[in-house]
Amino acid sequence: MRCPFCQFPDNRVLESRAAESGQSVRRRRECLQCNRRFTTYERIEFVPVIVIKRDGDRESFDRSKLFRGIMRACEKTGVPQLEIEKLVDEIEAELQQSASREVTSNEIGELVLNHLQTLSEVAYVRFASVYRQFRGIRDFIDALDHLQNATGGGIDLEALRRAAERSPVTSDNDNRETSSAAPSS
Ligand SMILES: [Zn+2]
Repeated sequence: MRCPFCQFPDNRVLESRAAESGQSVRRRRECLQCNRRFTTYERIEFVPVIVIKRDGDRESFDRSKLFRGIMRACEKTGVPQLEIEKLVDEIEAELQQSASREVTSNEIGELVLNHLQTLSEVAYVRFASVYRQFRGIRDFIDALDHLQNATGGGIDLEALRRAAERSPVTSDNDNRETSSAAPSS
């Protein structure tokens, strides 16, 4: 930061303290050339994040939409609302602080899944089935495999079976998958 009086680039910090209720840091500096003093403020940068949807449309990141999607996945899983809010906060911060200002809806989905797999297996599978648009039981099993690897086993299969019964993967596509898995000879 250049001195506002003589434009010299180097200075020393005399004092740092929190300002604006902790939203910024105020620093009193002294120019190493002219010795005059000036003040700087440091803040976290907030910029709008643009989401690129599957169909290529762009929209600004909608926090409440993300919240609703995660809420739906966490229904009756016992994940407290506070945890969901924390998760949304974390994801929003990750998006805010990523180098790119544009993110695909897929990338957001994968971010959510990364966090969900430690919160609730059932919510993970439900969210995956919506975000990855499962086309049949094969996709569902792939997601289970992934989860099994990520958590080092110990999956509550009974809970997952109940989740599967409520999720779209048990739709008519199962018939196709079942028949293609049968011996062809
Ligand atoms: Zn100066």
